[in-house]
Amino acid sequence: MFQSQVVVLIAGLFALQMAVVCAVLRRAPGMERSGLTSWALGDLIVTLAVVLLAAHAWRADWPLQGLPELGLGAGLSMMVYGTRHFAGKPGRGMVLAAANLPALAAVAAHAASQLVSASAAVAASLSLAASCIQILLLIEIIRVTAPRVPGKRGTGRLAGLSLGLVALACSTLVGAQALPMLEALTAGHPRPPADAGGSVTVWFVFGVVGLSVSFALMAHDRLRRMLERRARHDDLTDVLSRGAFWEELEFACKQAERTRQPFTVAFIDLDHFKAINDLYGHLAGDSVLRHFAGLLRKAAPPRAVLGRLGGEEFAIVMADTAMEAGRAVGLRLSSMVRAAPCPSEPDPIAYTVSIGMAERQAGENADAVMRRADRALYDAKLMGRNCVSSHDSGEASGLPRRPRVREREAN
Ligand code: GH3
Ligand code: MG
Ligand code: MG
Repeated sequence: MFQSQVVVLIAGLFALQMAVVCAVLRRAPGMERSGLTSWALGDLIVTLAVVLLAAHAWRADWPLQGLPELGLGAGLSMMVYGTRHFAGKPGRGMVLAAANLPALAAVAAHAASQLVSASAAVAASLSLAASCIQILLLIEIIRVTAPRVPGKRGTGRLAGLSLGLVALACSTLVGAQALPMLEALTAGHPRPPADAGGSVTVWFVFGVVGLSVSFALMAHDRLRRMLERRARHDDLTDVLSRGAFWEELEFACKQAERTRQPFTVAFIDLDHFKAINDLYGHLAGDSVLRHFAGLLRKAAPPRAVLGRLGGEEFAIVMADTAMEAGRAVGLRLSSMVRAAPCPSEPDPIAYTVSIGMAERQAGENADAVMRRADRALYDAKLMGRNCVSSHDSGEASGLPRRPRVREREAN
């Protein structure tokens, strides 16, 4: 008896620890609506159920013997509620609360069955109904999380799969416990759960703690990916920030050196942007930057790397793209900007861009190719802005700067 109580209390301690883990993760910025509060509360309720289970093992004649099951069911309901939030499908709170009614009624019926023998059948039926609801809750966790399991290998995928597997194992355990109850009931010998306060319930509690560990890992993976994204992306325009762009550019250089494939960079600067700020204000200037980033995403090839190098300066790295194809992208972008002014009140804000292009030459590193694109951009500015200019490799080696191509698409 004493040993089983210790095991039960260890399970409770784990549940309590998971409540703390979920509460701590919940405090991270951006995790407010991730369902972690519900999971922390669910873990606390499970802890309470475990304490009741230990107390029940101490006093087997305790009248409220259905209470631990009620606690486990209520904890599961909270966890399903949290999982729905995590998956972006909040709601069904009332339905999940109502799911605990059979377990609540079973507690009352169990207590009454000690006084009136006739209510034993009712108590057994209600316990059975509560077990079926627990199985449904576990299936709901699998149903809601399955589409969210990342396809890419990593912690998130591992945690999502383990959540599904543990939920499946728990529902099998509950089913195995409910089956003898169903047989006894249909045979006309109703009896309370065969394992009340016993090892199956303890395994189930460990299973619920396992669910909580998997969920916390999923939430942690989401937090890590969110922070990584924030660190690498410019928050105004959502393209790569300078550092991340430079990393990608250096990687592209190494890749191109290995595969001997060409790649082209476009260095883009918004024309007279200071005047836009002065005329319309900085907030309108920010809208123009966001608007341009949208056009940049539309004009760039699907695998292109887009970055904001600072202020109103952007760049595109186009892998496996020679100058001709790269220049076509630059011209398309330039004409899209001319054709679509930034929506604003009372009038849209018209603006233009200057673009400098350079194709990477054999042996060139990120610095060298960007320097040539910068020179081409300088030429585009000198030539009156609102155009695309490109440089050949000769100019990178210190020869006099010479604009090679200057193009402006007709509107
Ligand atoms: P040019 O055609 O020669 O490029 O002239 P320009 O006015 O675009 O260039 P300049 O370098 O003189 O001005 C850039 C301006 O961009 C100055 C700065 O206040 C503004 N700027 C930089 N970052 C931001 C930003 O995040 N938001 C807004 N609204 N303005 C910014
Ligand atoms: Mg500018
Ligand atoms: Mg500039």
